[in-house]
Amino acid sequence: MRRAGVWNRRNFLSGLGAMAAAAWPGNALARSKEAASAVAPAGNIYKELGVKTMINAWGTITIIGGSLIPPEAVAAMSAAAEQYVSIPDLLEATGDRIARMLKDLPADHSATITSGAAGAIMCGVAGTLTGENKEFIRQLPDLTGMKSEVLMLKSQHRHYGYNPQILASGVRIVEVESPDDVRRAVSEKTALMFFANYMDESSEIKVAEWAKLGKQYNVPTFNDAAADTPPVSHLTDYNNMGYDLVAFSGGKGLRGPQCSGLLLGRKDLVRAARFNSAPFAPTIGRGMKVGKEEIVGMWKALEIYLNNNQEKLTQEWWDRLHYVSKQVRSINGVYTADFVPPIANHVPTMRIEWDAQKVDLTTAQALDYLKSGDPAVMMGGGPGDNSISMTSFMLKPGEERLIAQRMKEMFKAHKA
Ligand SMILES: *Cc1c(COP(=O)(O)O)cnc(C)c1O
Repeated sequence: MRRAGVWNRRNFLSGLGAMAAAAWPGNALARSKEAASAVAPAGNIYKELGVKTMINAWGTITIIGGSLIPPEAVAAMSAAAEQYVSIPDLLEATGDRIARMLKDLPADHSATITSGAAGAIMCGVAGTLTGENKEFIRQLPDLTGMKSEVLMLKSQHRHYGYNPQILASGVRIVEVESPDDVRRAVSEKTALMFFANYMDESSEIKVAEWAKLGKQYNVPTFNDAAADTPPVSHLTDYNNMGYDLVAFSGGKGLRGPQCSGLLLGRKDLVRAARFNSAPFAPTIGRGMKVGKEEIVGMWKALEIYLNNNQEKLTQEWWDRLHYVSKQVRSINGVYTADFVPPIANHVPTMRIEWDAQKVDLTTAQALDYLKSGDPAVMMGGGPGDNSISMTSFMLKPGEERLIAQRMKEMFKAHKA
């Protein structure tokens, strides 16, 4: 008998391969077409499941599905679904391609596709601890023999939504507030200095200085820049600023598969991160699997993203907002204001405000009203209790019309 757990190409082919070929009638493409038509006869998979669809004027929000994948990337995913490949080889090949596509990435940096930015954080942190040491990789979250502390700004740590992905490796987060604190906190136990980019503006130490401090004390630095494109240049800005690892979401502005992400950084650390993730086992990141379809989809989506005419897109996004603005401002007491958030979700955004004397409606009531339709219209709330905020970069062309109509109905129904 074959020894359990020993897998190689030869025994795979001689055993399962022959059996599968004999037992698999028809051709795979015909079968998949049949299967697709059996599953979704009306072309709306969500209707069949009884789950209401949404118009996304909110943003790249994970809880409503992130973003929509461009059709060319969906086609690439579909093609990827029709063949077997070596996942480690595919990860390496797409990582190399991506590193070459990002022309401004430092020469000693590379890329790997991860299960979202959260997966990039988890496997990236693990990699800085283990390197390529197989025993260490197997051993996490037991840190015997490894470094064990990650420095983070106190103000960031207290508000950060992805602490569990850092802590999963068994490290302790050490809070600091000033460059002096960093100097005092760094020791032989310090594995990493972690920065949450979207909180840069409110931080005691800014993004560039954090990277500089890392260099000064010879500690690797990590920047979570998950939702920080556009601008496109952000994809390489932080690596060039000196960060050793940077994470992006694939399923937000980049419009890759929702469960995909990118880890960009020093070649040795990116490799180490990859060895701490699926398909390798036992690893702490074995649950952070990205399938061949998502790997190919992420790569294609990034290619499309980099070829986009950003200026033209931005103009389209403003045009959609201004269409809605014109419509809703026709109602007495309703005003709009354009703005662009400074870091994360740096895209055309519009605040829609109303005078409570003229429109009897709270922010929560407005969001509920818009959500209650079918399809639901999703937006963000506030600030204050008489405003909502709208983005247009995740809309399909024409959806702004339905949004304007729904909002006009809402404001008319709530005349004070
Ligand atoms: C969305 C987000 C994440 C998680 O990204 P996923 O791709 O959903 O895993 C991490 N950090 C920040 C700041 C984010 O906005």
